[in-house]
Amino acid sequence: MPLHNTDELHATPTSEIESNVLNDRTESYIFPEAKHDPQTVYQTIHNQLVLDGNSQQNLATFCTTWIEPEVKQLMDESADKNMIDKDEYPQTAAIEERCVHMLADLWNSPEAASTIGCSTTGSSEAAMLGGLALKWNWRKRQRAKGKSIDSPNLIMGPVQVCWHKFCRYFDVEICEVPMEGERLLLTAEEVLKRCDENTLGVVVTLGVTFTLQFEPVYEISLVLDELQTQTGVDISIHVDGASGAFLAPFLHPELVWDFRLPRVKSINASGHKFGLAPLGVGWALWREKHDLPEELIFDVNYLGGNMPTFALNFSRPGGEVICQYYNFFRLGKEGYREIHTECAELGRYLADKIGAFGPFKIVYDGHGGIPGLCWELKDAASSNFTLYDLADRLRVCGWLVPAYSMPPNREDLVIQRILIRHGFTLAMADELLVEMKRAVDELQQRPLKPASGVLEAEAELVPHDHSGR
Ligand SMILES: *Cc1c(COP(=O)(O)O)cnc(C)c1O
Repeated sequence: MPLHNTDELHATPTSEIESNVLNDRTESYIFPEAKHDPQTVYQTIHNQLVLDGNSQQNLATFCTTWIEPEVKQLMDESADKNMIDKDEYPQTAAIEERCVHMLADLWNSPEAASTIGCSTTGSSEAAMLGGLALKWNWRKRQRAKGKSIDSPNLIMGPVQVCWHKFCRYFDVEICEVPMEGERLLLTAEEVLKRCDENTLGVVVTLGVTFTLQFEPVYEISLVLDELQTQTGVDISIHVDGASGAFLAPFLHPELVWDFRLPRVKSINASGHKFGLAPLGVGWALWREKHDLPEELIFDVNYLGGNMPTFALNFSRPGGEVICQYYNFFRLGKEGYREIHTECAELGRYLADKIGAFGPFKIVYDGHGGIPGLCWELKDAASSNFTLYDLADRLRVCGWLVPAYSMPPNREDLVIQRILIRHGFTLAMADELLVEMKRAVDELQQRPLKPASGVLEAEAELVPHDHSGR
């Protein structure tokens, strides 16, 4: 008999596989000798997965958890398609190409119909590609001037971990502007202090993971224009628009952050975040075709076709790209605007309510950045609970609301963050508020105790390397 819920799973493990998993972990690491009946195996795995967190209550992730039935159908129909087989699946390849140009149009490329770009597995791969293009272009400029190409640096603010990876993997000195006091973002002034002729570019984040705020691309571009006028040093901008590139065009069309600025040479975005596509797709685009150095493009002669590629991966599923295209058509600007506006409003609603609880100071109130909010304790030193305690307490009722400390130089600052994604409703917000209020009341009544240990926040926030590398 297949098992149907988690209670039964604990009470009566029926299959052999299941009892192995439950009784002996090392046993479950041994490659199975015998074959098994598909229904039993399916049910066993299904039951294991039931114990995962509920994605609807996961307020930590940026990634979409909303999937329309039509998307499931398209994912199902394309489960056997490899994105790299462009010759075998020319329609899928054409869909990817259309998405690239639609995004170039959305991000105001002056050559939207002919510029270059590609899909990736996410923003991390797209960031690597953007960084590599910056590095190659910088080397070309340096060589042309007969200058050294030994010690490139890349300027950035409080970035997502993918940029630390890029710098380490591709041997670029990371020039990370630390947070200071109330300044939790990169500013034009701080960028200018650090620029030199070894600077291959500036990464500006539209939607900083720590606080959800947008960094000032326009202002940074302006000071770099002035720098070039005064010194001749020409420094490119790459916008990490993992979240923001799918938000700003719909929520803040007046904000100038994209290819309208000639200095913005490349943009990355996560299709699977506010692009609303299923997990596993990102985008990297260049302003104009010549912004991507030709040497980085490989002409692959594969399975009878010749195709230019720029990617770190080879084989990769096609479904996510197909469903991204579905979203572009299904939603249009109108649909994206409606969905993101509703999310942004819910973020501001929660910021008002949570701010009124008393012990919290709202750090980001949902205006101007990613739909969501974040807060700190007004008086962390004399509080009898930490935000880690609150995160722990909310976990009990299924809500994942991560608390984490900031990167240098604000490691002392602990904040808690909620992301609002499509699928989160006003009723859920009210439900969460009731639980939060109850949790806060309970925690406040506890006797004073020393600060508790660090609870793991969302994976992407935790492995922050404080060693300065
Ligand atoms: C999520 C995120 C990334 C990494 O994107 P993936 O799509 O998860 O690979 C990079 N930068 C920022 C600002 C992000 O929010």
